Formats: sequence, C-alpha cells, structure tokens
Amino acid sequence: MDTDRKEILANAETIVIKVGTNVLTRADGTLEPNQVNSLADQIFRLKQAGKKVALVSSGAIGAGMGRLGLKQRPSDLRHLQACAAVGQSFLMRAYEDSLARYGIPTAQILLTAGDFDNRTRYLNVRNTILTLFESNCLPIINENDTISVAEIRFGDNDTLAALVTNLIQAPLLILLTVVDGLYSADPNTDPNAFLVNTVKQIDREVLEKAGVTKSSLGSGGMKSKLKAARLATMAGESVIMANGAIPGVLDAIFSGEPVGTLFLAAKQNMAAWKRWLGWAARPLGKVLLDAGALSAVCSKGKSLLPIGVREVTGSFQKGAVISLCNLEGEEFGRGLSNYSAADIAKIAGKKSESIIELLGILPYEEIIHRDNLVIIEQP
Ligand code: GLU
Repeated sequence: MDTDRKEILANAETIVIKVGTNVLTRADGTLEPNQVNSLADQIFRLKQAGKKVALVSSGAIGAGMGRLGLKQRPSDLRHLQACAAVGQSFLMRAYEDSLARYGIPTAQILLTAGDFDNRTRYLNVRNTILTLFESNCLPIINENDTISVAEIRFGDNDTLAALVTNLIQAPLLILLTVVDGLYSADPNTDPNAFLVNTVKQIDREVLEKAGVTKSSLGSGGMKSKLKAARLATMAGESVIMANGAIPGVLDAIFSGEPVGTLFLAAKQNMAAWKRWLGWAARPLGKVLLDAGALSAVCSKGKSLLPIGVREVTGSFQKGAVISLCNLEGEEFGRGLSNYSAADIAKIAGKKSESIIELLGILPYEEIIHRDNLVIIEQP
C-alpha cells in the first residue's frame, strides 16, 4: 500500500461514507436488500475497529419509486418529493433492520441548505452527530427532499457529504458510486484510459476529466463528485472515490487494496469557522474587486478595503456572508461583510479615511477582515 493511503486510513478515526442511489437500488429503482446488508456488515466491521462512521445515504427517491411502482423517475417537484417521503422511511427501515443484527441503532438526520446558512443550526447538527457517536449510533443523513426546493437545495448528496465531512472535521470521506474511480480518460471511448490511483490536487484539468457522466437514478455525476471531493480536500480532509457495487469494497479499502481513487487533502487543515464561511453558508451578495485588491486578498492574505471594490450587488445587512468576485463576476472567495450593501455602494472605490465623511461613522477600516475571509478558488 502506498504510504499516503496507509497513513490516511490508519489515522482516520472519523469517516463519512456517502452511498449513491445506483449503489443501493436495482435498475427498476427498487431497493436492493443485499446491498443494504453488505453496507451494514462493513460499517459494523469499521465500528468494531474503533472508527466513528456517519453515513450520507441517497436512495430515498429511488426507493420511493420502487415502492410506488413507478417505472420512471418523475420530473416534477411534487412527485419527486412524494417519492422521497415514501422512500425515506422505507430506506431507514432497511438500514435499521439490517444494523439491528449488530445492535447498532440508526439515527435519521434530514437537512436542507438553509439549515447550514444559520451558524447555530449548523453547529447543532455537528453536536448531534458527535453525540450520536458517543452512543454507538449510526447517523444516516440525507437531504430533506420533501421540503427542499431549488433555492434551498444542496443540489446533490455528494456536496452534502462533503459539507458534513467539513462540519465534523472527518479526516476521510468515502464516496461510493457505481464507477471504479477517476479515469485518465473516458474508458468507454478510450482503450488506453486507466484508473487514477491518487490525485494530489483537484485543479481545472482534473475537473475537465469528469465530462458529463450522470447516473440514471441519482442526481450527481462525476463532476459533482469531483467538486465535492474538492470541497473536502480544500478544507484539509482526504477523499476516496470507489465502486460501491463491488462486494466488500469498504473492507478492501481498509485492508489496503489499491481500490478507487484517493484525493489527497490540502496541506493545511482549515479552521472550522472558515469552513462554514467558505462553503456551508450561502452568500447573500457580491463585491467585484479590481486587480489590485484581488491580488492583495488572494496572494498576500490582506483584508478587503473599500478602495479595491468596484461594484456591489445584492441586498444584505452587515454581518452577511458575501462573495468576492473578479471583474467578470467569477467568485473566488467568501467573507463576512462589515458593512451593508447600501453602505458598500457609498464607500466603494474610496480610501478608508473617507468612510467617516461618507457614512458619518467609521466602525471598521476594512469591508472584510482577513480573519473572516476565505479563498475558495484561485482566480
Ligand atoms: N436525496 C436524494 C435521494 O435520497 C438523492 C440525491 C442525490 O442522489 O444526490 O434520493
């Protein structure tokens, strides 16, 4: 086993496992009990080995389709939500029954993106998961599909799993899907394509490898998995993507077989506060920065001063999380604004000394202090 893998697997005391719909369900959408049982068996063995495990499980909509006898995934929201409502309890019962064989209680956690905007709620989720670990429970997390609409959706469970990994600071996220991992090229069209064993950094080139593959029943594709892996690795956690349809895949990973693709964590482990700021809370507005400010905040780790702001969009109060963008509007960072959008509009492009003149008060010299600023993309 290569040393990176060995170290990561040995040191990962807490693990988030994400399992996709296509791993858990048959082609017609019905739940495959053997898969649920096999996952439960392997999770039991991990827990016996002293690991704390949280499971992010898709499959509610798929299982609901099967339960309702639908042949095709509905395309409208209300039918999707109805399927999720039927399937979620069905899925939980399958996990509960299967894990009861080992005396492991299951705990259902359903989340929306809105829950993560609010820092108190976000931290409550963390406390709940950590408390469940103390009681040997398996937290099983899914998006709260029945109430999620476009504006409050995580989008896919790959992203949700990465956010949960960041939330509980789990050193390892395992994404179980129905492909073996990341290939150097599309294996369906390129006979020379090979499975990449380790990815040091998920840069644009790696993201381009993803193409547009999409599974039939779930909502994520390779791109969403790579983006999720990126989110976790940037915060300082490692990710393994592997084929959950292969029997015993988790056992194989932990016995050191070179299964799937390992995405290495960034060198620096990001502080909890910055993880929330950078990815969990959704921004309420944008500031567009000129080249000087962009380089000051990105390369020199400086605070954002009013002089470097060209434009502000959105309507927000002070204390809001906002996006930092280049002049093309491409987001490269996020931060906590010391000023409302209306006040930023008045002081944008001006020296900090003139804030007092323009606003009548000078609460802060900077619009975003460097301690409250996270770079999430190299511009
Ligand atoms: N929350 C969805 C479900 O349980 C799955 C979302 C996804 O596949 O990413 O069916």
